[in-house]
Amino acid sequence: MFRRVLVANRGEIAQRIIRCCIDMGTECVAVYSKADENQVYIPFATRSICIGGPQSQDSYLNIDRIISAALATGCDAIHPGYGFLSENAEFARKCEEYGIKFIGPPADVIEKMGVKAVARDLMVANGVPVVPGSDGTVADAEEARAVADKIGYPVLIKASAGGGGRGMRRVNGPEEIEEMFGQARAEAISCFGNGDLYVEKLILNPKHVEFQILADEHGNIVHFGERDCSIQRKNQKMLEEAPCSQLTPELREEMGQVAIKAARAAGYISAGTIEFVMDANNNYYFIEMNTRIQVEHPITEMVYMVDLVREQIRIAEGLPLRFKQEDIKPHGHAIECRINAEDPAKGFAPNPGKITLLHLPSGNGCRVDSTLYDGYVVSPYYDSLIAKIIVWDDTRLGAIRKMRRCLEEMTIEGIETNQEFELFIMFHGKFLRGTYNTGFIEQCVNELLNLERRTSEIEAERAGNQVNA
Ligand code: ADP
Ligand code: ADP
Ligand code: MG
Repeated sequence: MFRRVLVANRGEIAQRIIRCCIDMGTECVAVYSKADENQVYIPFATRSICIGGPQSQDSYLNIDRIISAALATGCDAIHPGYGFLSENAEFARKCEEYGIKFIGPPADVIEKMGVKAVARDLMVANGVPVVPGSDGTVADAEEARAVADKIGYPVLIKASAGGGGRGMRRVNGPEEIEEMFGQARAEAISCFGNGDLYVEKLILNPKHVEFQILADEHGNIVHFGERDCSIQRKNQKMLEEAPCSQLTPELREEMGQVAIKAARAAGYISAGTIEFVMDANNNYYFIEMNTRIQVEHPITEMVYMVDLVREQIRIAEGLPLRFKQEDIKPHGHAIECRINAEDPAKGFAPNPGKITLLHLPSGNGCRVDSTLYDGYVVSPYYDSLIAKIIVWDDTRLGAIRKMRRCLEEMTIEGIETNQEFELFIMFHGKFLRGTYNTGFIEQCVNELLNLERRTSEIEAERAGNQVNA
């Protein structure tokens, strides 16, 4: 067993991992930036260390400071969470060099899968269906045009180093290639310091369906079914559910086996996710592998009654998997709403600030992963995710009802959030039918915002206020 685990992250995922260490009886160390001195989970860690200023570069992205903190506090393992250094091969390699176990896949696997154009080629070579597109990267707009002419428009130009929905542009016809190639390259360079681009056919109105896998050091790989993450804005997830309404048990097993094949091709170890886009005819295509624990992992935990972070730690300790594929069965339905400090009416612009009144939901089948408290200041330096509301029920409709109840119970005052927006999704016909796709928010945003406006007018009327139209 690990002696002590350093948690190289912040916010809800740092808390999630620290809680897991406590539950496992493993000591843990919290690291935090100057902006995070008052995070609620810090006192619960065995030890804690301030590693630098609020800017991520000075703290959560600072490899040397994190390694020094681990050595100074006698840690023999580091859990990177998601975002920050979680998919940084150099960091994983440094950990290995210093005799610290990186709780994730080997550095060369991170490297391989992190270059998305390379990952695609690897999948093609191993018989995993990928979206038609370029072989590797394209050098310039001319080369992108040649690929697009061959596979047909619309296409996506994507950053090979991409993540978080950045560095991606839709191209509807040859006249747009030049412009969009330039935009994608500029964004890729500014976000990832790497301008490499590749081309993929744009699958029209797909569902984003991803498979959770666990792989141990002894060659065993299992999958824990899928998550439907099609409710996205700016190619970023906002709400996820498991299972996906479009999958039959047979298709689940087929895609699960493809996901396992993909993980095996990558030489994967640890918890990971294989992402697919799937069209209305159930054709599915690999888009990328995420070599880390994901934001939305709790819905899988609820449907499969498993602690994925604990399993991830056990795998890093060298233990064999405790599951056989035939014993892994989904139960009921789970939904996660990501509550972000952002204003849907202003194009989902981040909205940091101080929380003046807080009440979080709870009750049967409700899990809240959040570090918020009354008076919490949402920092402008980091991601806008402030809470994850996760519900479970034995049916999908039951889970939807429970999520409505939870979102209605919740009060967050002082800052704008997407809480109401999420609530209205829970009433939208397309969502209720389960047939929505990744275009949902873009298509319905005005409808949902109008609903939000109307409701607040009704509320104001009820409160006896004058409503000025
Ligand atoms: P998930 O599939 O886990 O939901 P997301 O794409 O939402 O993944 O990313 C999780 C977190 O990691 C977010 O905070 C996102 O901003 C961040 N992130 C993802 N990829 C990158 C990247 N390549 N560079 C920087 N941050 C990233
Ligand atoms: P990131 O690393 O930023 O998460 P992904 O390759 O996973 O990038 O794509 C992010 C999102 O963009 C997907 O979840 C999906 O909604 C959309 N997308 C990506 N590739 C395609 C494609 N070929 N066709 C249609 N949509 C796509
Ligand atoms: Mg992705």
